Amino acid sequence: MATDSWINETLYPAWGQRFLVKRELARVQSDFQDIVVFESETHGRVMVLDGVIQITEADEFVYQEMLTHVPLLAHGSAANVLIIGAGDGGVLRRVLQHKTVAHAVMVEIDGEVIRLAKEFLPKIAGGAWNDPRAEVIVGDGIDYVKRAPNGAFDAIIVDSTDPIGVGEVLFTDAFYENCARILTPRGLVVNQCGVPFMQADELRETSTRRHAFFPHVTAYVAAVPTYVGGFMTLGWSAKDATLTAVPVETIRARAAAAGILGMTQYWTPEIHAGAFNLPPYIARHLPA
Ligand code: SAM
Repeated sequence: MATDSWINETLYPAWGQRFLVKRELARVQSDFQDIVVFESETHGRVMVLDGVIQITEADEFVYQEMLTHVPLLAHGSAANVLIIGAGDGGVLRRVLQHKTVAHAVMVEIDGEVIRLAKEFLPKIAGGAWNDPRAEVIVGDGIDYVKRAPNGAFDAIIVDSTDPIGVGEVLFTDAFYENCARILTPRGLVVNQCGVPFMQADELRETSTRRHAFFPHVTAYVAAVPTYVGGFMTLGWSAKDATLTAVPVETIRARAAAAGILGMTQYWTPEIHAGAFNLPPYIARHLPA
């Protein structure tokens, strides 16, 4: 994967991106995956898992803001939030920016991702690791949701790797059935669903599975520069179909009350509302 001073992403066999490496910071084979962290010439520090770009300092704000602020502000009063994966701490930091959040549980299977993120990507999580509202668990997300009590959470944010290897269990019926059980009556799940231009199966199959357990399944989009292939889709599964139709002015007021307004570089109330308007090449992969 690394040749001289370039790292080539291996997500797609015949197409991808490469980064000119300024300095390799860590290379660890954990119990779950191959982890590389390097300083790039163009995107700050970058984490790679099994050859797939996970996060860069330069554009992580796009993904983390959309994966976090959209569900929490659509819900409007999420107090208990479950985060699955997200070992870099970026989602945890943004969840804790919401004053409405009383407790954020983060379940990451690979303690090495957390350790390396703390050491080499400290800006991603900021002070989140030490927030008294945060509970960080090193474990498998599927095991956690199986054991969690009914109605324990208002929102579940799944920031996992793709459905290969350790991430695969987070795209199963058992996982979604338990998510539905441990959510409150207005609860919702959002999950990274890949780049449909290249990974339409991931969006189609996970949406179909989630539809068996949630009455309202759709997706919303974000333009993440280093998730190559155009729009990144974030899967949406809700018990309340009205959550995707919250008026822009209500979203703005909620963001102001939560202390989010003016703190973002990608998310805005208008981007939030508009993100659910899907181009046909994406919409056609969702349940009718
Ligand atoms: N933003 C990235 C993306 O969209 O591809 C994902 C970033 S985050 C680093 C993905 C995390 O999911 C990894 O740290 C990985 O260890 C974690 N993960 C994968 N499978 C998991 C599981 N079954 N339970 C908990 N965490 C898991």
